[in-house]
Amino acid sequence: MSDPAERPCIICVAITGSLPTKENNPAVPITLAEQIESTHEAFEAGASIAHCHVRDDEGRPTSDPDRFAALKEGLEKHCPGMIVQLSTGGRSGAGQARGAMLPLRPDMASLSVGSNNFPTRVYENPPDLVDWLAAEMLEYDIKPEIEAFDLSHIFQAKKMAEDGRLAGTPYVQFVMGVKNAMPADRDVFDYYIRTVKRLFGEDAPWCAAGIGASQIVLNEWAISSGGHARTGLEDNLRLDRTRLAPSNAALVRRAVELCGKYGRPVATWRQARQILGLRMV
Ligand SMILES: [Zn+2]
Repeated sequence: MSDPAERPCIICVAITGSLPTKENNPAVPITLAEQIESTHEAFEAGASIAHCHVRDDEGRPTSDPDRFAALKEGLEKHCPGMIVQLSTGGRSGAGQARGAMLPLRPDMASLSVGSNNFPTRVYENPPDLVDWLAAEMLEYDIKPEIEAFDLSHIFQAKKMAEDGRLAGTPYVQFVMGVKNAMPADRDVFDYYIRTVKRLFGEDAPWCAAGIGASQIVLNEWAISSGGHARTGLEDNLRLDRTRLAPSNAALVRRAVELCGKYGRPVATWRQARQILGLRMV
């Protein structure tokens, strides 16, 4: 493969999440129409993956498959080619309800393979639920993105790939800067990369997400190290200490600028699909 520094960088935009509100930042897209508009703007700015949660009419997180279906349909229509990644994360519902949207066959879904602490609670991912979500993703031909909140989660992905619970090479995302979980620590980050290369091969793609002020830090570490980058209002609401981010697209542009700084082309949706082994549309 080419020099890692010249490889296209996939930018993922996490548009909404479960927690942020309009009170936190009026740019957080909550309604379906807002989500589609915000994603479209981010897509035009260079994002090729949309990581999606949905909210109910009161703005609370939900796993309602009908809401996910409407969002997926809207994104496929207004952002043709963009990779749609639906969240099975734990804030939006308990147990198998977290995977109720998987029969929609999105391109990708997030998959947490172990538990850890979150700011105010345990992020609970019991083995039987993880196995059920992974089995659903196999059945519906969905590429999981493994959310690694901890080193053990990378090893768990390896184990699951070895025994056939995951198809192909796991695509791992390092998540750093969640309060009460792994902070943005450069030595750990470098060790995560070494571990992914050792377990999955030198050329295995990986990505990274930082929460809050760590977002820009993780963007820079990932982009300069040959990885892929996640940004968006789910993870961070601010441009800097004094300014709220005006949109998801503004955060995408920040990542695009870093790609320029390190000589990484920004992946088109076609390149992103090819890198991740996804179907072309
Ligand atoms: Zn999420």
